[in-house]
Amino acid sequence: MSTGATVWLTGLPSAGKTTIARAATERLRAQGRRAEVLDGDEVREFLSAGLGFSRADRDTNVRRIGFVAELLASHGVVVLVPVIAPYAESREAVRKRHEAEGTAYLEVHVATPLDVCADRDVKGLYARQAAGELTGLTGVDDPYEVPARPDLRIETQGRTVEQSADAVHALLAERGLTA
Ligand code: ADP
Repeated sequence: MSTGATVWLTGLPSAGKTTIARAATERLRAQGRRAEVLDGDEVREFLSAGLGFSRADRDTNVRRIGFVAELLASHGVVVLVPVIAPYAESREAVRKRHEAEGTAYLEVHVATPLDVCADRDVKGLYARQAAGELTGLTGVDDPYEVPARPDLRIETQGRTVEQSADAVHALLAERGLTA
């Protein structure tokens, strides 16, 4: 069986996490690898229905996703997780769980600056926050703890999606996780 891994893409809303996860997944599948995206919005609909955006709920959400990702990764799947995960402590808990199980875990910081994310505003969240229709937006009026030592940091501004996906693929290859 191929070696699985969890690749957690952390970053601000509209940083490019989902786009990169999908592009990297397609590429891995084209190579015959089993790859899966654990999409944050889908997870919130099914696995984490009822959870909100408080610190405690965000932490629970991240730990649940980490649990499922580890299970899949331990069976040879490369699991791409495009989920904000704003707190270092929650991310660390997920890493520890993987380490305890002997499952590969890679943290990728999609480090698009806030002003670029707010311009992209894929889901209209920044506009809603600015209009006073939403509070607790990560990076604006809710914390985002920048990863201190990610396995990879991707600057997406001025780069194509393809280049960003290449960087994730190169990281997996470097760690012997593409075969
Ligand atoms: P997130 O999942 O982080 O909230 P999305 O992936 O949904 O963000 O949206 C990011 C947006 O930025 C998309 O419209 C995507 O096409 C665009 N984008 C521009 N350049 C890049 C890049 N190099 N990598 C990823 N996304 C990019």
